Amino acid sequence: MTTHREPKSSVLETIGSTPMVEVHAGPDEVPIYAKVESFNPGASIKDRIGKYMLEQMLEQGDIEPGGTVIEPTAGNTGIGIAIAAGQLDLDAVFVVPERFSVEKQQLMAALGADIINTPTEDGMKRAIDRAHELAEELDNAVVPQQFSNPLNTEAHYETTGPEIYGALDEEVGAIVAGCGTAGTLMGVARYARDQDPEVYVAAVEPEGSLYSRHLGEEPEEGEYKIEGIGTHDPDTNELFDPDLVDEIIQVPDRKAHEEAKRLASEEGQLVATSASAASVAAQQVAAGIKSGEIDAPHDTVATIFPDSSERYLSKGIYRTYEEWEG
Ligand code: PMP
Repeated sequence: MTTHREPKSSVLETIGSTPMVEVHAGPDEVPIYAKVESFNPGASIKDRIGKYMLEQMLEQGDIEPGGTVIEPTAGNTGIGIAIAAGQLDLDAVFVVPERFSVEKQQLMAALGADIINTPTEDGMKRAIDRAHELAEELDNAVVPQQFSNPLNTEAHYETTGPEIYGALDEEVGAIVAGCGTAGTLMGVARYARDQDPEVYVAAVEPEGSLYSRHLGEEPEEGEYKIEGIGTHDPDTNELFDPDLVDEIIQVPDRKAHEEAKRLASEEGQLVATSASAASVAAQQVAAGIKSGEIDAPHDTVATIFPDSSERYLSKGIYRTYEEWEG
């Protein structure tokens, strides 16, 4: 594990080793610690997979230096891949549904990437198909495909999981994290279960999302404003392994929005709504451990705050609930 005490020769060396900070809204008896991923150079957890996937694909010969990486992405992964591509002599092209935040798209462009927008109503599926069409048209091009690439999960198994266990002296009772691609939760949960098969694992999704279908439930589909987690198309969640998950917690937009404001005003945490949704769910799990409803091997909960609220100011994240565009 790196420390950030010595000078680095590349920004890639500053990825990871993010701090864990207590969430004080949890019960005293069952503290909650959040891994604050906005400390990464691209300000989100996705820097980890950008670096890991590209380095591995270069090593495996899936792509040669000078080639092009094409990815369908909601934004943060684009930033993570763009940073890594720029430092590893690769070009980057991103296919992004229009609804995702303009800040992210501007950052990807600043990092030297090209961006192609697809219509919001066509969903992530269309963005994925378009990325593959483009890759066919080019030589030496690859689609890392974070939604199905095991390297996404592996990045978190190799880095995020061990860092959480190291920071908490191996005493982790529950892991609570949002699922977009599910790479984060799957990597961390797999690492956690390897350390301790009894660790409790909760996935987090917005109310209206369909992840819980993977556990045989029949959630009602609806629109949601929380950005970065959830699914409308469970067939694209190829990394999600229901065997690693005890529970899926649905968080309504309104609660996540309230909690994002509370985390800023009371705890000094400038985090976005996938983080605040995780915070709400982590508090629920901590209360369950405290009351004895949930069996966990330790009285601690680890959660993940994937990115910063600064990226969503233009969408009114700190305005009223009605004004927040999501
Ligand atoms: N939060 C934000 C803001 C994200 O961009 C993402 C990635 N879509 C996630 C959470 C979820 O991470 P994962 O894809 O690893 O499930």
